[in-house]
Amino acid sequence: MKVDISDIITINGACLKIDWTGGPPEREPVEGCTIEGDVIFSGTLTNNSGILHLDGWLEAAYKSACYRCLGEVRGALRLRIKEDFSGSADSEQNDMYLFEGKKLDISRALNDNIILNLPMKHLCSEQCRGLCSSCGANLNEVRCGCSGDSIDPRMEGLRSFFEKS
Ligand SMILES: [Zn+2]
Ligand SMILES: [Zn+2]
Repeated sequence: MKVDISDIITINGACLKIDWTGGPPEREPVEGCTIEGDVIFSGTLTNNSGILHLDGWLEAAYKSACYRCLGEVRGALRLRIKEDFSGSADSEQNDMYLFEGKKLDISRALNDNIILNLPMKHLCSEQCRGLCSSCGANLNEVRCGCSGDSIDPRMEGLRSFFEKS
């Protein structure tokens, strides 16, 4: 998503309002987790002595699979975004994003924030019982009758996940 910064780039303190809705920078920012629908960003871009400071809120919905039972998990992100953009080549060393010319692309900054804030593991519910390690039955739905109930259900879910993949 590119922002035209020609109005603020030469004026210290100038501020640009950004209200944007559109497809995510990456539909699947983390393997097995997809962003659903549009990403919404609302905020400002301020020229702070040549450094452009982005400040705002990002909202996105996502869909993934429960790591115990592989059932569908849906969630939403609402993130405060604060990032700096620099026009000089040493931006990386200063932990800033680089911009060139009169267009500033905030996609990578938004995507990095999405990746950092997505949960590492998704769980359909705290009580999820996972899949039976013997027969693969979803133990949230059935009691399959296999023995092996003493195994930690989280380990079962993980194991069957790896067996299937
Ligand atoms: Zn589950
Ligand atoms: Zn079973």
